[in-house]
Amino acid sequence: MSVPVTTLIDDPIARVLGELHERLRHDYRGEVSASIPTLANADHKLFGLAVCSPDGFVSEAGDVDVEFSVQSISKAFTYALALSDRGREAVHEHVGAEPSGEAFSAISLEEETGRPDNPMINAGALVTCALVGGEDAREKFARIRSLMEAAAGRTLGFDETVYEEEQAASDRNRALAHFMRSAGSLTDEVDPTMEVYLRQCSVLVTTRDLAIMGATLARGGINPVTGDRVFSGEVARHVLTVMATCGMYDYSGEWLLTVGTPAKSGVSGGLITASPGQFGMGLFSPKLDARGNSVRGVAASQDLAERFQLHALTLPGGNLPVVRESEERWPEFGAGVVAIQGDLVFASMRGVLAAMEDVLDSTDRVLVLDLDRVTRVHAVGEKILQGAIDRLHDLEHDVVIVDGARRGIVTGAVEVETLDAARDWLSER
Ligand code: GLN
Repeated sequence: MSVPVTTLIDDPIARVLGELHERLRHDYRGEVSASIPTLANADHKLFGLAVCSPDGFVSEAGDVDVEFSVQSISKAFTYALALSDRGREAVHEHVGAEPSGEAFSAISLEEETGRPDNPMINAGALVTCALVGGEDAREKFARIRSLMEAAAGRTLGFDETVYEEEQAASDRNRALAHFMRSAGSLTDEVDPTMEVYLRQCSVLVTTRDLAIMGATLARGGINPVTGDRVFSGEVARHVLTVMATCGMYDYSGEWLLTVGTPAKSGVSGGLITASPGQFGMGLFSPKLDARGNSVRGVAASQDLAERFQLHALTLPGGNLPVVRESEERWPEFGAGVVAIQGDLVFASMRGVLAAMEDVLDSTDRVLVLDLDRVTRVHAVGEKILQGAIDRLHDLEHDVVIVDGARRGIVTGAVEVETLDAARDWLSER
């Protein structure tokens, strides 16, 4: 597997990333992790930024090719695999979906069920490692690694030294595992679970990999560079949801307020963030703040969120109103035409129904509905439109749908490709 990464001569996003890199590389706040020697000795000057678009175009600045251990960012992908293997209900019998408000290595289990708070902290990730399908630790880890590779679109390295150092420094995580085993939330033995967990932390990624992995989440589970489906759209949504509420440890709430996109950070200074349908982003800089998040990674994300309006809960613009034309009447056929453009989503349907009513008020039982320029149809748009058309049929109205692509957006109505074809159909009737 190798990823062809295209580069425009003058990519405006890369220019912004370059400016940001230049400004923030003088920010020396924070400390590198002291948890294992490899991380303690990391070059704290490293700084990479990469953004991957939904069509697989990567914009980047700084040290985007330097490899580092993925650490806790793997938790998002292990959760994805556990969900794919077992389904949401079975997974969440053993792990919650609530922000812990505590450090990533906290020992806090829900009182009644013994479940750890969520899959993005150590305790929860130990549980999801145990839930991943596979005969033994070797197979489980191989499956997690392949999933990360499919999301990155290339073969990923493994740092044997990091793994050994993690094993040597695993007392607390091991204690967590034993604790959860006794509480019933850890479904596998402690030793193999520790092996899977510490191995997944030791997989090597680059900042560019993280951007593409983020874009895979943003594209509903399809890697935009390779075109491969890595997990289902539903799994992608669950992962992004838990990343949004729990991905930044005890900074998750403030992160959502100031950046507003699902994210996951790791102790090596990596950070992944994504917005559905919009982008995946990878950031890397080893110095961490008190909560264990990359200082420059957080600062860069906040700057970009502001500059590009990335917050996922920003008021969307541009798709309303959707009724392009509702004045046209064809009296010779007793018909009126309503032409729609844009997205058929919850918010646009009121206007569509009102325009249909309007036309039917002043015509004789024939509605020509031009859907040719409809771009996206959400399930809710489809249901409301279908309901309205079924009702018109019950009232003995005729409905002619115009759609050049013949997408079959609604059923039970005559469908033609052009307005002229609609006229022909009506005149021959
Ligand atoms: N290997 C680390 C640990 O389990 C991962 C933690 C992290 O990246 N926050 O402690």
